[in-house]
Amino acid sequence: MQPVVLRTLRVAPLSVPLSSPFVIATARMEATRAVLVQVELVRDDGVAFFGLGEAAALPPVTREDQPELLAALGRASSALEGLAIGPAVVRASSHGVAGLGAPVEALLDRTFEGSWVARAAVESALLDAFARAQGVAVDRLLAGEGTLARRLHTDITLSIAGPDEMVEAARAWSARGFDCFKVKVGHAWQRDCDALRAVHDALPGKRFRLDANEGFSAKQALALLDGVLGAGLVVECFEQPCRRDDVAGMVEVTRGSAVPVVADESIRSMDDLEQILRTGAARGVNLKLVKLGGPLAALAVGRRAKAEGMGVMAGAMVETRLGLSAMAHVVSALGGVDWVDLDTHLLLASDPFVGGMGTEGPRVEVGDDGTLGLGCEARGPGLSF
Ligand SMILES: [Mg+2]
Repeated sequence: MQPVVLRTLRVAPLSVPLSSPFVIATARMEATRAVLVQVELVRDDGVAFFGLGEAAALPPVTREDQPELLAALGRASSALEGLAIGPAVVRASSHGVAGLGAPVEALLDRTFEGSWVARAAVESALLDAFARAQGVAVDRLLAGEGTLARRLHTDITLSIAGPDEMVEAARAWSARGFDCFKVKVGHAWQRDCDALRAVHDALPGKRFRLDANEGFSAKQALALLDGVLGAGLVVECFEQPCRRDDVAGMVEVTRGSAVPVVADESIRSMDDLEQILRTGAARGVNLKLVKLGGPLAALAVGRRAKAEGMGVMAGAMVETRLGLSAMAHVVSALGGVDWVDLDTHLLLASDPFVGGMGTEGPRVEVGDDGTLGLGCEARGPGLSF
């Protein structure tokens, strides 16, 4: 294992139009608002290895938007160029997992204080390039000798909509093989209930995951659960029913239903996980790279959550195949998770990448023994740095 040095860090806007607008309780978007990061690591003998990362903004879920990300990453490039990543530090990661080494991770923490979205992209790109330099895939780099889970099964997300529109969307995805719907709720529980029951009536036997994005009080959330469970829906989990600061509400829903409550907006760090374990505010956590600051923190939080017997979901912002691939490698390195929600590439009107996470309907292939890094390359003239 030879040391490598960061020679360049380049950024470019990554604005990919969506096939149709993405609507959740707190946001609406018509194109991705991301930044593409490319790093170049150079070995002593002059051989260069490139890595890519996606900084995916989704305001107000993320504090940052594309202009702030471009500025933060532009400022960071001079601070990081010349950074050395060597074998002596690889297994001394501050997260207690194989990674880039504690000094590198601490430098990323300082450089991107307050912009975890940007940090996640740079860390992903560094891991991608570093794994390529070692001749392995990112999941193998992260897992060491651990068991990988390279075949995953994702749900498909249905935006908030009325019953007719939601049934139409569900039918179209069902025809493409999807059997589990992650349904965005949280505007009005009765209307959400009607839409969910309509999908169940039209397509019996499907499974559901709900996501309110903080939209409900505990009573509204429990009323919605009563309504849909009473109609016979199989609900696997209920993500973030209440506001992140409404801990009592989250606890009430967790205690009031057998359906596992999954924390999403409530968990942005290992400290948040510890608080959830103390308060009993959820039975599961949703890992996302841009929220936790990168693959290494996501891996560490995922391992801790699994060790505590919590359910784990792997999610994303509205991201391209690149960002989803980085998360998929974390899932593989974790040996799998309970709920895979890596579907947002299907919302895009075009795909600016080749390789990386392979998909066919709900099936996701993380990679194989020949995969180097994330295995994902940019294509097309739109992504020049
Ligand atoms: Mg969510």
